[in-house]
Amino acid sequence: MPTKPQNSTPANKGASCRCVFFSRTGQYPKYSPCAASKPAAAICNPSSPARHYCHCEGTCARGNLLHGACKATVNANYNKLFSEYPRGGKLLLHVCCAPCSAGVVHRLRGFDAIPYYYNPNMDTAEEYELRYAQFCKLGLKPVKEIYSHAEFLRVADKLENEPEGGARCRACIALRLERTAQKAKELGADLFCSTLSVSPHKDAEFINQTGFALEKKYGVKYLPNDFKKENGFAVSTRLSKELGLYRQNYCGCEFAKAIKHEIASSRCSSQ
Ligand code: SF4
Repeated sequence: MPTKPQNSTPANKGASCRCVFFSRTGQYPKYSPCAASKPAAAICNPSSPARHYCHCEGTCARGNLLHGACKATVNANYNKLFSEYPRGGKLLLHVCCAPCSAGVVHRLRGFDAIPYYYNPNMDTAEEYELRYAQFCKLGLKPVKEIYSHAEFLRVADKLENEPEGGARCRACIALRLERTAQKAKELGADLFCSTLSVSPHKDAEFINQTGFALEKKYGVKYLPNDFKKENGFAVSTRLSKELGLYRQNYCGCEFAKAIKHEIASSRCSSQ
């Protein structure tokens, strides 16, 4: 099991805190910045309720936000936990796209893995179907959910302007993980996890802590991982080229796409 966040260290003393609350009614996790006056130490206390997951932000000497300042006290090696996890059992594997999955599936030998395609964050139904079809090129047939972008928009509400890796992405990842945990329970799977950690843009700490919280909530084991380790991302890039997979140039939602377009057009106008 990963180390739980410890009491605040001098490094993040005075840091402001951002918490994820899992609602008791089975709704998706709610994200709410806690009152700035609430010291990080109070939130990071390991005796906090299990439903509480803490995400701290410290400030550097220049006053810039340092995301995840309390990670230093968490420090779990999720790749090691994955490598040492007993093999065997039916694993529901959330898959986001073909390139990411290509960097993960070879590491799941020993599990009876069932891919699960649930990505309501895709900005259009066409993109949803395109990424699904590309996934099928890997020779695996996933359990597929119907495209429902409204589910994503509901959790992304008022988080449209968040940067990639910020609160909108955490809500998006938690939405997909929570549905995976629910589906795993429904299908009688022994374990669940996601390919998402293969991306260098995704926070393995958040993914895993959310997975463990969902394990408690749904009673299905979460398989810890950090698939970007052991060259996971490099393998994903190489296999995508070799297999001629469509490698999208934006994460999935319209907000990420708009940022990419903005960056591209600012490059053009400065040339
Ligand atoms: S950038 Fe990616 S992870 Fe973040 S909200 Fe959009 S689709 Fe989800």
